[in-house]
Amino acid sequence: MTNKDSVFNDALQRLTFISQGLSIDQQTLDMLCKPLSTIQVNIPVRMDNGSTQYFTGYRCQYNNVLGPTKGGVRFHPNVNSDEVMALALWMTIKCAAVDLPFGGGKGGISLDPKTLSNMELERLSRGYIRSLADFVGPEQDILAPDVYTNARIMGWMEHEYHIIKSKKLLGAVTGKPLPLGGIVGRDSATGYGAALCVFKIAEKHNLTPQTTTVAIQGFGNGGYHCAKHLQAAGFNIVAISDSKGGIYCHQGFDIESVYQHKQETALLAGVYCSGSVCQAIDSHKISNAQLLELDVDILIPAALEGVITVHNATRIKAPYIIELANGPITHDAEIILNKGETVIVPDVLANAGGVTVSYFEWVQNRQAYQWSKEQVNERLEQRINLAFEQMWELAQQHNYSLRHGIYAVALERINQAILCHGNQAYFIEKKDA
Ligand code: NAD
Repeated sequence: MTNKDSVFNDALQRLTFISQGLSIDQQTLDMLCKPLSTIQVNIPVRMDNGSTQYFTGYRCQYNNVLGPTKGGVRFHPNVNSDEVMALALWMTIKCAAVDLPFGGGKGGISLDPKTLSNMELERLSRGYIRSLADFVGPEQDILAPDVYTNARIMGWMEHEYHIIKSKKLLGAVTGKPLPLGGIVGRDSATGYGAALCVFKIAEKHNLTPQTTTVAIQGFGNGGYHCAKHLQAAGFNIVAISDSKGGIYCHQGFDIESVYQHKQETALLAGVYCSGSVCQAIDSHKISNAQLLELDVDILIPAALEGVITVHNATRIKAPYIIELANGPITHDAEIILNKGETVIVPDVLANAGGVTVSYFEWVQNRQAYQWSKEQVNERLEQRINLAFEQMWELAQQHNYSLRHGIYAVALERINQAILCHGNQAYFIEKKDA
C-alpha cells in the first residue's frame, strides 16, 4: 500500500490540517498521530467441511486519555491494520465530540462474511474475542457492531467473553440483543443520529422536508434507519443503494416497503408493500457511482470510506452531504467540495448516535437497570443537538467548516485532559525554578 492509498495517512493529514489553526498543544497532536497499540491475530476456524481456515483479525486501541477505548468490529474483505487505525482515530475524535467518557478503538476481520455459513460465522466471532480476551473489557476496550456485524454477532462475542472470564461482564460488548443486556434503540441509533443532523441542517438552512430530495448510499443498519426517520419527517428519499447497486425513483420510495422486500428477497427494488404483498413501482437502476453524483439536495454516504475522492468531487452536485459512513470523503476531495461551498456534516458527529447509545448501554449494564426507549431517544437527541450547536457556533464565529468546528470541540476536550498531566512548558518551568 502506498502512502497515497492509506486511509490512516489521509486521516492524519486532515487532523494536522485542522489542528494548525487551533490552540492545541503539540504534545496532544503528537499523541493523536500514533495509536497506543494495534493488535493483529490469526483466528483458526473449523469450517463446515472439516478443514481449518485462518482469518486475520485486528484491534486498534488508539487513545484512552478520556476513558476506555471504544469502537466497532467490522467484517469486510478490505479490513486491514491501516483501516482500523484510521477508524480508531475517528472514534477518538467522535467520543470526545459528543463528550463521552471513552477513548477510541476499532477492530475487524478481513473476510467476506457472505461466504460463511451461520455456524462458521459463529465460530469466527467467538474466535475473535477469544484471541483478544486479554486486551478488551468494560474498563479497557469495548466492542460494538459495524459493517457486516450485528446484534447476534455481538451476542456471540459477549457470551464467549463470559465463558472465558467465568463471569458476566456485559459492558465489554455493546449493541447486544435486548434479552442479552442490550439497550432499546441501539439498532436505530446511528441512523437516527444522522437524521437528527439532517433536521438541524434543514432548520439552519430553511429547507422544507417535503421539497427536499435525499440520496442514500448503503441500505444497511445506518442507511435504513436514517431513511426511515427522514421519510417519517416528510423528506423525499429518491435514491438508495447497497453493495450491488442502486435504485432511483423521482417520486421517492416507501422505505419500509423496500426494506421488507430486501429482507425477503435480498434484492433492492422499487416496491410498495401492503402486508406481505409487494408491487413494483416505477424506478430505475443506477450504479453506486451515479448515486453519488445525482442532482439531489442531500447526499448521505452510508456505506464505506473513500467514496468521494479527487476523481469525482467536482461532479458531486448535492449542496449538503451528511457523512453517515466513516470517512466517505477524502481530505483532498473535501478541499474541492469546500471551495464549492458544499455543506458537510462530518462523520464524527453525523454517525455518533451509535456510540452514544452504546455508551447508554454500557451505563445501563453497570447500573443493572433497564432504560426506556423515551429515555434513550431523549438523551440521544440532547447529546447530538448540543454537539451540533457547539460545532455550528464555532464554525459561524471563526468561518470554519463544520468539520473544523467539531474537531475544535473534540480536540479541546482531549487537550485539556492531556494537559492535566503537564506538558513540556510545565516540566521545563519546574526544572528551572
Ligand atoms: P451494514 O453492514 O449494516 O450496512 C452496510 C451497507 O453498505 C449495506 O447496505 C451494504 O450492502 C452496503 N455496501 C457495502 N459495500 C458497498 C459498496 N461498495 N457500495 C455501496 N454500498 C455498499 O453497516 P452499517 O452499520 O450501516 O455501517 C455503515 C457505515 O456506518 C460504516 O461506515 C460504519 O463504519 C458506519 N457506522 C456504523 C455504526 C453502527 O452502529 N452500525 C456506527 C457508526 C458508524
